[in-house]
Amino acid sequence: MDYFHFVDNQLYCEEVPLTHIAKAVGTPFYCYSEKTLQRHVSVFQEAFSSISHLICYSVKANSNLAVLDALVKQGAGFDIVSVGELERVKRVGCPPERVVYSGVGKGRDEIRAALAFGLLMFNVESRGELLRLNKIAGEMGKKAPVAIRVNPDVDPQTHPYISTGMRANKFGIAHDQALSLYQEAAGMKHLQVVGMDCHIGSQLTSLAPFVDALKRILALEKELRDAGIKLKYMDLGGGLGIPYEEEQTAPHPDHYAGALMAELVGRDITLILEPGRAIAGNAGVLVTAVEYVKEGEDKRFIITDAGMNDLMRPALYQAYHSVLPVVRRFGREESVADVVGPICESGDYFARDRLLPEFQEGELMAIRSAGAYGFVMSSNYNSRPRVPEVMVRGGQFAVVRRRETIAQLMENESLFA
Ligand SMILES: *Cc1c(COP(=O)(O)O)cnc(C)c1O
Repeated sequence: MDYFHFVDNQLYCEEVPLTHIAKAVGTPFYCYSEKTLQRHVSVFQEAFSSISHLICYSVKANSNLAVLDALVKQGAGFDIVSVGELERVKRVGCPPERVVYSGVGKGRDEIRAALAFGLLMFNVESRGELLRLNKIAGEMGKKAPVAIRVNPDVDPQTHPYISTGMRANKFGIAHDQALSLYQEAAGMKHLQVVGMDCHIGSQLTSLAPFVDALKRILALEKELRDAGIKLKYMDLGGGLGIPYEEEQTAPHPDHYAGALMAELVGRDITLILEPGRAIAGNAGVLVTAVEYVKEGEDKRFIITDAGMNDLMRPALYQAYHSVLPVVRRFGREESVADVVGPICESGDYFARDRLLPEFQEGELMAIRSAGAYGFVMSSNYNSRPRVPEVMVRGGQFAVVRRRETIAQLMENESLFA
């Protein structure tokens, strides 16, 4: 559920018409609803309220400081994957005991910075990382809290680029090797084994793969207990999908919680979850203006001022985003069209062969479900400045990241004089 809705045929974010924001900041821009972000966190918190749990929002989905600030105030923790993300969560004042650190390639400096901060646990993805972590923790006179990321080898039935928990993926430790690696970690002087982690993929629209993964890691947790290694945290990662299309359904966090908690009853363990998309996805839209409507030989093209550099999910994953006019007019003709950007790539599109109202030049269009993996994946390709991000709170809005300038595009460059 989100707070984007039509009032008198005008699309609003909470109590602000998107046309007002467009007038103030120009197009394109991302617009986020603070109330939606916070509501999504509270839905998770309530769904899991009967067990010990921690919601660690996956920062990579949308790392704007205002977004993180809204979430931390709601009681969320964070899942980070780099020292840059660490600095962001520090900036919004997140307590260290609410931060977990994931990722296959943690650098030495990143590990040092994270140990100095003192986070809840490192989700370790290889034996090399365990050895490195033990060594650096020793040099710093600390004990590093670790979980091992186990690859449960379940098929999440999602797009191959966002599937991470199968044997062929680069992520995690094979289930069969995990026990011996845990024993080795338990023997390392500067490590403290505290948890187990897995993350099987993203945009999952069925619960079965989550339950399978949880069963597999719980079985391993039992083996560890029998071997004298007691864990405090089970981290099931993120991955809960959201509906991108009207007809599409995704499990409600209540059902997700019900299915997971059924496996956890009576266990003395804290469940950690790392949702990203489920928190931020439907809390944001990308607003763009139509530059041209071009009648091609076979179909019509609606050419927008936003491009794949601003929102690359369609180009990268053939992802579907619903597009709609910011000002609705009834009785308008509809026809099949492609919505495309100005970039010099055929993959630069937002919608293909879509039945859409006949948009006019200059008209505003909202691309929905753009709050996660939208701005964070944007680039300057084609020397296009990155677009601003706007946050709405009730009847007010604020620019929480300014539009980049052409001068900024070149500020780190110089001629070889
Ligand atoms: C990307 C990622 C997440 C978040 O995934 P969503 O699909 O956005 O919920 C959580 N944990 C890890 C380790 C990730 O890589």
